Amino acid sequence: MRPTQAIVCLGAIADNLETASRFAPDAKIMAVIKANAYGHGAIEVARALQTRVPAFAVAFFDEAVQLRDAGITRPILILQGTTGEADVAEAAAKDFWLMLHCRQQVDRVLRSDTAKPVRVWIKVDTGMHRLGLAATELGHVCEELSASANVQPEMVLCSHLACADELANPITRQQVNQLHEYAAKHSLPLSIANSAAIMCWPETHADWNRPGYMLYGNSPLGSFGGAKPGLVPAMTMTSEILTIRELSPGDGTGYGLNWVAQKHSKVGTISIGYADGYPRHAPSGTPVLVNGQRVPLVGRVSMDMISVDLTALDKVEIGAPVELWGPGLSVNEVAACAGTIGYEILAGLTGRVPLTYRP
Ligand SMILES: *Cc1c(COP(=O)(O)O)cnc(C)c1O
Repeated sequence: MRPTQAIVCLGAIADNLETASRFAPDAKIMAVIKANAYGHGAIEVARALQTRVPAFAVAFFDEAVQLRDAGITRPILILQGTTGEADVAEAAAKDFWLMLHCRQQVDRVLRSDTAKPVRVWIKVDTGMHRLGLAATELGHVCEELSASANVQPEMVLCSHLACADELANPITRQQVNQLHEYAAKHSLPLSIANSAAIMCWPETHADWNRPGYMLYGNSPLGSFGGAKPGLVPAMTMTSEILTIRELSPGDGTGYGLNWVAQKHSKVGTISIGYADGYPRHAPSGTPVLVNGQRVPLVGRVSMDMISVDLTALDKVEIGAPVELWGPGLSVNEVAACAGTIGYEILAGLTGRVPLTYRP
């Protein structure tokens, strides 16, 4: 069996959830487990968290169905709401909560012939301009929904922050002030904060917070680095050195031979590549841990392999342990080298890498 695997520590995710609630002790936590729990396995993560959180959130309907079919019983908010009229009745029957973000979605709920009322969150646009009702529509929508027998009385008013990870950006405060204004007018509970807002903007903490990325143990902010907020990376992407070869000065390695040894070098090959989700744009110099020590990636990332320069290591043999990211090497750092964010790397892992779970 290929030694490459992603080891997921479920206890770390539970600890990170604790950390999220320490930042905002009065808020209920809706654990965001969209995109296969940011690559960590939505069903397993939901099983591990379901006694600890009152509800989950996913992006769309099929993700919620998959969790129900696997026996997850907690309510699941569908962040993009529904696209079909029949979905309303199914949502009500399955205890999915619907985020209503546009007039058509509101109408779909009002017109539905659902046997049971559905629970809804109302999304208002406070400046991100992606999803959300306009403030001018809000009054009427709240009245219609409150009056409808299709809707459960416990509604939540919600918005999403565009710049919560930019600590000096005044937009966040403007968005929050607007939402508080609407909430006061319609006397509804509120939800605003994602991970960055939970960690950095206490004024965004509300009845419900919606952490995603931080649950998996990585900071949503480059500037927070790894350790400071007390988050523990839940995933360790591991492998072993597959082979080692000696290169003479002038020898190149990898497609395009665009990394060339300047001196006698020892180059190791690792069985992970872009078909697994390792970022193809990671350049030479991107760190990899071998025997717990940082070594540089060399040459292009292939579909199934990468190479690393092991010259600086004293003792290293075939089979030496490798960490691509994890507690010893932040996925944020690897992502920054590749010109992306840790979110993309984790969410972009392919099914080819086995996920192994530890308590
Ligand atoms: C993804 C998402 C979140 C979680 O964001 P993180 O930055 O991962 O904490 C919260 N709310 C909405 C609407 C989202 O789409």
